[in-house]
Amino acid sequence: MRCYDCEMKHNRTMEASATCSVCSAGLCGEHAIEGYAEEKAQWSLGNPAVVRLNGRRIFCETCAPDYLELTPTTRRAASLAG
Ligand SMILES: [Zn+2]
Ligand SMILES: [Zn+2]
Repeated sequence: MRCYDCEMKHNRTMEASATCSVCSAGLCGEHAIEGYAEEKAQWSLGNPAVVRLNGRRIFCETCAPDYLELTPTTRRAASLAG
């Protein structure tokens, strides 16, 4: 599989080393963003909470902001992207 972001944004071909957990796009090491998935949970009426799911998730730059809590790794990736 090839990195989708490399082909779309940089017009280059790069072997993918991961897959986005959300959109299933192939991602190279440069474009893969490591994080944790969260799930909304209703502990009690009117008191919503977010539960962090176990394990690591890999996201593309497009999907990451919606699904993860920023970690040092993702902040670095975000600054590189900007
Ligand atoms: Zn890439
Ligand atoms: Zn994605």
